[in-house]
Amino acid sequence: MKNPNRNPTNETGGQPRQTTRSGLGDPFRGGLDLGKPNLGISLCLLGEKVRFNGGHCHNHFVTSVMARYVNWIPVCPEMGAGLGTPREALRLVKREKEVHLEESRTGIDRTVVLHAFCETFLNFLSNKNPHGFILKRKSPSCGMERVPLYREDGHRIGVSEGVFAQNLRKRFPLIPIEEDGRLNDTNLRENFIERIYAYQRWSFFLANDPTPADLVVFHRRHKMQLTAHQPAVAKELGRIVGAAGTGDWQKRVDAYGEMFMHCLEQHAATGKHANVLYHLLGFLKDRMQGEDKREMIHHIEQYRRRHTPLSVPLALLNHHLRRLPHPWVQGQTYLQPYPADLRMGQLLR
Ligand code: SF4
Repeated sequence: MKNPNRNPTNETGGQPRQTTRSGLGDPFRGGLDLGKPNLGISLCLLGEKVRFNGGHCHNHFVTSVMARYVNWIPVCPEMGAGLGTPREALRLVKREKEVHLEESRTGIDRTVVLHAFCETFLNFLSNKNPHGFILKRKSPSCGMERVPLYREDGHRIGVSEGVFAQNLRKRFPLIPIEEDGRLNDTNLRENFIERIYAYQRWSFFLANDPTPADLVVFHRRHKMQLTAHQPAVAKELGRIVGAAGTGDWQKRVDAYGEMFMHCLEQHAATGKHANVLYHLLGFLKDRMQGEDKREMIHHIEQYRRRHTPLSVPLALLNHHLRRLPHPWVQGQTYLQPYPADLRMGQLLR
């Protein structure tokens, strides 16, 4: 039987491991603040003039809002591969079954140097313990999807993913990755931010030589958050946790981690949020005054009808929890899955 205390995945990178397990019972040690997450980013999005034409693609949300909450790990794969700026524009070309990265005008093949840089950089990244990545859309190096793909004769034949993005995904299959353009969509942006912080907690969990009992606690604290996304998957995760003490521990943890991140990928719909809010209210209702209960239900229904943002019933619930403490409910990551400022004014959905 494998050692259940072994770190079950190589995705924790260089995150410092805790030297003692005593008192670990709760993987968050009574709090959810694990410090700023580490986020990789295409360097041109930070306003650096590293594009092929000597320009940049500054993203205002990234530098004015997100920058306050994350540690950046910037990279420009094409600069890193020694192509300099300004440089020839690149494009993806399909030759037989292989996709190549070539200079659009001269046809010079840059595939090998890009892959070599990816290898070096991703080794470096492993030691930085990344919790997410923001990529520049449509770039033949950084683009996550919908990057134009050409035939040798220059005819466009479809779309693909950039060379760097492909390597990144292969090396860190669970890491949340998003493109700059998709961050303009409120739902996609909030989902991405939520997954960054969830992945940070998962990385922290893995870095602390978790036991089956730790997994029980981890799941318990995420139960409502997972249920708001996909109730059926949340139940399936509960079954993995229920069997955590049997069989191959490493396989169980890997299966849980994969399903945990997959569960959060799906947008949490209004109806599911309302159901979770009612569920949490159920823990308090016997101790609440009738008027408070009616007010709470009113705000949940207002939210369900999209007349008010989620932050309203959530704030009210938190207010009642301060008066009527309930450890199980207060331990739910659902109540604050990420810093409140990152969701300000965005939750009318
Ligand atoms: S998209 Fe990627 S490769 Fe292109 S300039 Fe930006 S960081 Fe560099």
